[in-house]
This record gives sequence, structure tokens and C-alpha cells, in this order.
Amino acid sequence: MKIKNYINGEFINPISGEYIDNYNPSNGAIYSQIPNSSNEDVALAYQAAKKAFPNWSKTSLDKRSKILSKIATLIEEKLDFLATAESKDNGKPLSLAKAIDIPRASANFQFFANAITQFSSEAHESTGFNAVNITLREPIGVVGCISPWNLPLYLFTWKIAPAIAAGNCVVAKPSEVTPMTAYLLGEICSEAGLPKGVLNIVHGLGITTGQAIVSHPDIKAISFTGGTKTGAHIASIAAPMFKKLSLELGGKNPNIIFDDCNYEDMLETTVKSSFANQGQICLCGSRILVEETIYERFKADFIKKVSELKVGNPFETDTNIGALVSKQHLEKVKSYIDIAEQEGGKTLFGGNEVAVKNSEKGYYLQPTIIEVSDNNCRLNQEEIFGPVVTIMSFKTEKEALELANDTQYGLSATLWTNNLNRTMTITKQLKTGIVWVNTWLLRDLRTPFGGTKASGVGREGGFEALRFFTEAKNICIKYE
Ligand code: NAD
Repeated sequence: MKIKNYINGEFINPISGEYIDNYNPSNGAIYSQIPNSSNEDVALAYQAAKKAFPNWSKTSLDKRSKILSKIATLIEEKLDFLATAESKDNGKPLSLAKAIDIPRASANFQFFANAITQFSSEAHESTGFNAVNITLREPIGVVGCISPWNLPLYLFTWKIAPAIAAGNCVVAKPSEVTPMTAYLLGEICSEAGLPKGVLNIVHGLGITTGQAIVSHPDIKAISFTGGTKTGAHIASIAAPMFKKLSLELGGKNPNIIFDDCNYEDMLETTVKSSFANQGQICLCGSRILVEETIYERFKADFIKKVSELKVGNPFETDTNIGALVSKQHLEKVKSYIDIAEQEGGKTLFGGNEVAVKNSEKGYYLQPTIIEVSDNNCRLNQEEIFGPVVTIMSFKTEKEALELANDTQYGLSATLWTNNLNRTMTITKQLKTGIVWVNTWLLRDLRTPFGGTKASGVGREGGFEALRFFTEAKNICIKYE
């Protein structure tokens, strides 16, 4: 099957006619091809977006909101179809795609369909000056959205929905590793009546297609989610061109566990926060820090629970852990297990590839727990982005906080305690954009989402996203 670019409401071949192979991670087979788009394809997408902008930006909020709602409904109606496509493309368990990825993609459109009707320009009467100040929030024009492979449709739509809700037209690129549901979204948008050119989806490699979007002189804002190195590279191109930039990057998130927590809840959630989506979520708690008093108990219970997880074909209903997204990524994750051994880390569970019956060429790895004693080891400092977590103990609150903050990243942290004073002391001092207390990945789409330090710049979600996708203009009117 050949995936095509979606430009000006039409599915078209890349101008060069070149395609790249796309793999099914559950069995290692090539199952589709995607356009290897170039600067010319991006230029075409830009022209379509530019042409659509004057009308779309003036379309009433009510109409925009209705179209976004319709897209949300269509995604919901195609849940099984889209979840199957996502699972095949990414390797994630079908059950996860059905429960999380696709419902969230629909929710992204529904949320911004509602949010845009509540997002307003502001006016301030400047008392004493006979003046009124108006702050208009105007759409930017043509914006670029670039997303990664771990939560393909979920993250792709998390950018596109607020961008178009705010009246912009979009040139978007999904990851070349997981292009399928983005391709299917094009059809859904046409069916929902989204005018031609409002959303244009261009497929291809990061270094060519992605870079063509970032360096296009008239694409005025870039919303990017992906790796920290890529984010730095994108910033080096976009910043001198004075583009608006939102960068959601990598993480090395601490999961801090105190002995006064609700132990059973913590244990169950920690299994999820470690290994959900094969550990390929930027928010996974990959550094587990446990208070010394419960360290041995936790270690034994955690190993037991993790050993019960089934690694298997994503389409089997009892599979907990599916395939990693690609052969290349599997090799990267495995290399960290080797590094752990060289650094003196102790593998408590896992560490090996799994041969899944009838899918022997798939990219399966056991969930892996490694005990470390030094937070400066590479395993605790570098993002692995796979089913590998480290555990280590701490003695005091102060030590826990120091360990948690001792990383270049600052995306999220999880804290398990029932002590209110400790909760406030620690959460206020954690240098991360998000802190979960006694839970993990509980999302309210109104809240700001994003990281500090090497985890990125800017916030997505709620009105933060609508602010990013609009330009604020102040008009000051003096009257007699
Ligand atoms: P990646 O940086 O390799 O690629 C992300 C996207 O950027 C892809 O579409 C890719 O084609 C494109 N790209 C690559 N090079 C580019 C360039 N030079 N110019 C423009 N675009 C380019 O990341 P990945 O491997 O797809 O995803 C994994 C990473 O994403 C992890 O580091 C993970 O933590 C991060 N992530 C962050 C968040 C968050 O919200 N902070 C969410 C999910 C994933």
C-alpha cells in the first residue's frame, strides 16, 4: 500500500515519485510505503495553506468549532479501524490504542472545538487616561506541526487541533516511522468538511521533509515534539528566522516513592508508569527512587508484578507489552542494557529479546529492571525511551529531591506520599513542568503541558496552546 501526501484536500504522490519503506514492528515486515517528500512538496503544501488562510481565519468560531467536533466524532466512530492501524504501525498493544491513543485523538479535537469558543481577546479600560486597550489574539498564518512516533495520532492531533481551531492553516508532518493514522486523518478531515488547504500533511524523513518545514521562510511558527537533539537542531534553524517555537522534548523522569504512600496503588501505577507503551512515553518514570525503609519490599514486589506482564503480539488481547517501534530503536534500547553491565548496574529482571510465536522477526524486549547506585551513571542520565527502568534507594527527603533534580531533563516527576507538608515541600522544588502526586499521567486537557531544562520550551494544552498559535496585538485607543 502506498501512502500519499494530503495537500489542498487531495491525496497526491510526492513530486520526485520517491517512496520509503514502512515496517510493521510486530513481525518486521514491510507493509506500506510513504512519500519521501522534498522541499518542493513542502512548498506545494505551504501554497495550499496560504491560499486557504484568508477564508479560514475569517470563518466564524461557531463553524470552526462544528467542523472540529465533526472530526472528533468521526475519529470516535472509526475507533476500531484507527486503533488497528495504529497498533500495526507502531507495535503497541491494540488494547492500548483502543483505550488511550484513538480516544485521546478524538478528545483533542473535541476539547479545542469547545475551547476556541471560550478563548477571547481582552480589553482593559485604562482609567485616568481616557483610553481603552484591546489585546487581540490573531491567528499567525501558516504554521508547522511535527510529531514523533510514540503516540502517533494522539500527539499529531494535539498540535493540529489547536492550530486550526485558532484560525491557522497547517503544514504537518508525522513521524516517518508511524505515518499511517496521520494519512487516515486526511480522509476524515475531508469527510468532516474541513476546507481544502486548512490542513496539509506531508510525509517523509526528518532531515529532509521536516527540515524543509522548519526552514520555510513563511511558515511562522513551529510546534515540535520529539527528541532533545532534534529540538536543539530545529531551534538553531528557526530562532534566527524569528519563528515562534514550541518544543516538547525528552525526559528522564523520577518516580519518588516514600514509605508512607498507599503501597498497593503505588505498586500498580509504577508498573504502568514504567512500561506502558513499551516504556516509550516521554512521561514514563524511568528512574525509580525508593525510600530505604521499603526498598527491599518494593524490589521484591515490583519484580514479581513485572514478571507477570505478557510480552506478545500487539493484537492478542492479553498482551501487556507489544513490540518496540523499530529495529533501530530496539538496538538502541539494548545497547543501554549492555552499558548498564559495564557501569556496574545489576539487572534484576529482563534484559533479553523475546521471540514471539509466529512473529519471530518482531522487535520484542522483556521489561527490564536495573538496580543502580550512582545517579551519574549513563542509565540514569540519558533517555532510553524503552522498557528499561532503574531503581535506587534514598534515605532522606533532601537526598530524594537532589537525586530527582540531578538531570539535564525536566519534563515530569511522580511523587508517592501521604504527607501533605512533604508533598508541598517537594513538589515546589522539583524542577519539572509537571508533577503527579499519588497518580501518573492523569491528564486534564486544560492544564499546561511541557517541560523545563532540556525537556523543552513552551507549554501545550488548554489556552496555552491557543496562545501559542495566535499573535497578541495590543491596540490602544484614546478618546476625548
Ligand atoms: P525525533 O526527534 O527523532 O523525531 C520527531 C519528529 O521530528 C519526526 O517527525 C521526525 O521526522 C522529525 N525530525 C527529525 N529530524 C528533523 C529535523 N532536522 N527537522 C525537522 N524535523 C525533524 O524523535 P522520535 O524518535 O520520533 O521521538 C522520540 C522522542 O520524542 C523522545 O525523545 C521522547 O521523549 C520525545 N517525546 C517528547 C514528548 C513531550 O511531550 N515532551 C512526547 C512524546 C515524545
